[in-house]
Amino acid sequence: MEAHAPVLPEASGPFKLLLFIDKRPNSTEQVRRVRKQLKTLIESHPDAEPIGLEIVDVTNQPYLAEHFKLVATPALIKVAADTHQVIAGSDIASQLAHWWPRWQKELADTRATSEDTSAEADAESITVDAVAQSVEILRLSDEIFRLNQDKETLSAQLAFKDRIISMMAHDLRNPLTAASIAIETLELAYEPGEKAKKFTPALIVHLLRNTKVQIRTINSMITEILQTARGSSANLQVSPQRLNLQKLCADVMASFESKLTAKHQHLDVDIPQDLPYVYADCDQVQRVLSNLIDNAIKYTPINGKIGVAALHRTTEKVQISIRDNGPGIPRDNQKSIFEENFRLQRDHSKDGYGLGLALCQRVIRAHYGQIWVDSKQGEGSCFHFTLPVYRG
Ligand code: ADP
Repeated sequence: MEAHAPVLPEASGPFKLLLFIDKRPNSTEQVRRVRKQLKTLIESHPDAEPIGLEIVDVTNQPYLAEHFKLVATPALIKVAADTHQVIAGSDIASQLAHWWPRWQKELADTRATSEDTSAEADAESITVDAVAQSVEILRLSDEIFRLNQDKETLSAQLAFKDRIISMMAHDLRNPLTAASIAIETLELAYEPGEKAKKFTPALIVHLLRNTKVQIRTINSMITEILQTARGSSANLQVSPQRLNLQKLCADVMASFESKLTAKHQHLDVDIPQDLPYVYADCDQVQRVLSNLIDNAIKYTPINGKIGVAALHRTTEKVQISIRDNGPGIPRDNQKSIFEENFRLQRDHSKDGYGLGLALCQRVIRAHYGQIWVDSKQGEGSCFHFTLPVYRG
């Protein structure tokens, strides 16, 4: 992205004061004090030259602060022809009183050397306007910079979404093809001729059931797509990149070594060497893995077994599974555990807020993947999630 060079006017003659503040609560007080001081100075020197004061919020105009190489706020800057003077610190108002007579003298000297006072009066108003304009120009260039950044992020997100939509459409074809084949086969059973005789009632029931299963699969895939479209939205920013899951898993698992040792739990890892790269946000996937492994350790008793496995499930998807032989999750709660603040009654004595799995679900949906749990109460739980394969 191209940086926008700050534009400041070719000021000549008179001065302009810029008071830089930020959003801290005491900024209003600083502004009030400087304004009051300026008013007192003007009132006590009725013949003095007027010097305009402009308030600049650095958060809104960082380029202007950068132009004057400001390192702290509040700061008062006297902008003159080709120089500027910075006054910083907590006593700007009293420093203003100190400098005021000198600035007035400088102005008077400028006036004395000027031959045409009316031309100079014009110069003054032009200069003051020019600084005001430049502040506006800088505000606008800053806005353009921000808009360009937003545009880039949105374009990347759209490209990602396009790729995932084609991946999902591709996945929908499998059950659709299976259902069509079953229906076409069934058609033969009702056509006159020898072929129809081969269709026993049992075979017909089997084909009908198969069609029903495939249609159910299609339906749940469509539900997933709709949930994905809703869940991946603005409030979770993901920056997907080519990601080596094998390395990430190794790093995450290493960080749990002491917790595992403390509970005498055994960790079994099965990640194939040739697992393809995934297209995902490293920090966010790390949060998901950490949450799931942490839960497995937390809810599995001492001496338990925990497993982390990965598998290249389809050409487009990698599946990661975290298994434990802990207490498991009752069938009726297997969906609700992914809701915010949901915790099983039996686990209320354990540390936690019931947010971990909700966060995992948001992250995975933002990657257009799925997350779910397979579990039998008393035998353990296996959490699975999928991520898109990286296509170079
Ligand atoms: P937290 O662990 O902070 O309560 P989570 O959102 O991570 O929040 O989990 C929600 C609930 O799901 C947990 O309170 C627990 O009842 C259940 N749970 C999560 N992981 C497991 C697991 N591996 N084994 C058994 N129960 C689990």
